[in-house]
Amino acid sequence: KLKQPRLPEWLKTEIPTGKNFGKIKKDLRGLKLHTVCEEARCPNIGDCWGGGEHQTATATIMLMGDECTRGCRFCSVKTNRAPKALDPHEPEHTAEAISRWGLDYVVLTSVDRDDLADGGSNHFAETIRKIKQKAPHILVECLTGDFGGNLEGVANVAVSGLDVYAHNIETVEALTPFVRDRRAGFRQSLSVLKHVKEVNPAMITKTSIMLGCGETDEEVQQTLEELRKIDVDCVTLGQYMRPTKRHMKVHEYVTPEKFKHWETTGMNMGFKYVASGPLVRSSYKAGEFFIGNILK
Ligand code: SF4
Ligand code: SF4
Repeated sequence: KLKQPRLPEWLKTEIPTGKNFGKIKKDLRGLKLHTVCEEARCPNIGDCWGGGEHQTATATIMLMGDECTRGCRFCSVKTNRAPKALDPHEPEHTAEAISRWGLDYVVLTSVDRDDLADGGSNHFAETIRKIKQKAPHILVECLTGDFGGNLEGVANVAVSGLDVYAHNIETVEALTPFVRDRRAGFRQSLSVLKHVKEVNPAMITKTSIMLGCGETDEEVQQTLEELRKIDVDCVTLGQYMRPTKRHMKVHEYVTPEKFKHWETTGMNMGFKYVASGPLVRSSYKAGEFFIGNILK
């Protein structure tokens, strides 16, 4: 039986606060926006909301409710086979709130909605179009699910005016059946990322991998190679943290040196940027990385 390794020093962090942090936080009040940053008590909130060298504040907003039709073994979101109907006003309200908030870069994400015919792709596309109408200067990244393999849904979002299309493969192929919901497939996820480039070759694509789930170095290397082959531009790597005892165990705590190794390896392979570190999450300082590595 796998014993849980002890939490290493490098994961015991204080929440830092950047320059913009207070302002972004204050402005959030009254806007009725649900940020993943706050709700997941993300340890990166100071870094992301504060912006860094380029003063580019990033936040992640969750669309389409808080109940997911899937149940991945690493994820703390509630599962419900029949979640609440979509709020048809959400795209408009979200866009309005975001345009009034002092953000530079917004990541839109959602639960998976296998109960909806289009998986929610129209809702995503509509929200992006509305944000870009109201505030064209805000950079928009979406982090979508696989829409059940429905590539029309992927295409719909890919041409809606966004700046970065992210879809997470989460882990290496061999571990996928043990880590992700059974409806999520490694190949299916690659096909999502590949299709984005097919319908919109200028689109920046991005994915994320959690380490510490039992993957080997060789498997991580192969995964990065596969991602480069389909022209994925950006990759983030972070430590898997077990949300509760009912979730999958942490296999190991990967050292900061190893994360650094993947950053160097990835950059040498030609990714536009690689964010890699124990606390890195899919949207970690996404605006800062975008300004520093893509718009440069
Ligand atoms: Fe928010 Fe993502 Fe940054 Fe965490 S990593 S603070 S969820 S933008
Ligand atoms: Fe969590 Fe996404 Fe899996 Fe749903 S599909 S359980 S939100 S990781």
